[in-house]
Amino acid sequence: MKKISVNKKTLYVVESHNQVLEAWESCTRQNVFSLDFHTDSREAFQNYSYWKADSEIKSGLYRDHEKRKKEIIDQKINQYLEKEITIKQINDNLKNDEHLDFSVRVDMIDTVFILSKNSNASSSNPNVYIIDGRNNYRNQRILEYSPPCIPGCEKSIHDEKCRYMRADSSLEDFVLDTAIARAKNFKSSFFENYILDIDCDFFNTEKSLYPENFETFKKLIRESDFITIALEPECVKICLLEGCRLNSEIILSRLITIIEESQI
Ligand SMILES: [Zn+2]
Repeated sequence: MKKISVNKKTLYVVESHNQVLEAWESCTRQNVFSLDFHTDSREAFQNYSYWKADSEIKSGLYRDHEKRKKEIIDQKINQYLEKEITIKQINDNLKNDEHLDFSVRVDMIDTVFILSKNSNASSSNPNVYIIDGRNNYRNQRILEYSPPCIPGCEKSIHDEKCRYMRADSSLEDFVLDTAIARAKNFKSSFFENYILDIDCDFFNTEKSLYPENFETFKKLIRESDFITIALEPECVKICLLEGCRLNSEIILSRLITIIEESQI
């Protein structure tokens, strides 16, 4: 994790998204407003517990895979809460889409709101609420908001043109204002105490980094307690739209320029 100070704003830059936990650990149960291509809302230690339980069952130590998985997850979380293991040790066994669940389960973070491009029809994680999905809200602390297109698009099927338009508009005021209003619907005090979290794969076209109107983004930067940025170079490559040339370093450098301007 690299700590950078830009005009009095602190940003923490990490490679893998789950490493942001190292920065979030020092916070005071803030909210997180996250911009990401993916929702990153898988249950903590899904991958680790799956394979560990699998090998234990093959060695004849246990029989019930689901039950053993749950025990392994609970054990990891308790070890952290009892301060037997550090956040770095947690990250050794956490995937880059399992950190949000971990952060709310150990009460590091209060509520997470994710504005993502990738949408899930349902979630197996009981801590996740999909906004505009099929289920009722039960005070879940991870809120996924993945609108299929930009606000106001009335096409019944969002086509290729929509995909580019949506990517290009990622930071435009009318996009972020809508997301912010949705977050406030769930928690009116959300933006009184929050961390701005950005995964570089949220940016899929060059134009997405040069919005026409982005006062809202600048305000989000200014009023945040601090910012975390995940480089995720491979995800950036995979999520790029055809014909676009971006990489994590270009995105980071442009974000730093915007942060600099926002702080004036
Ligand atoms: Zn559309």
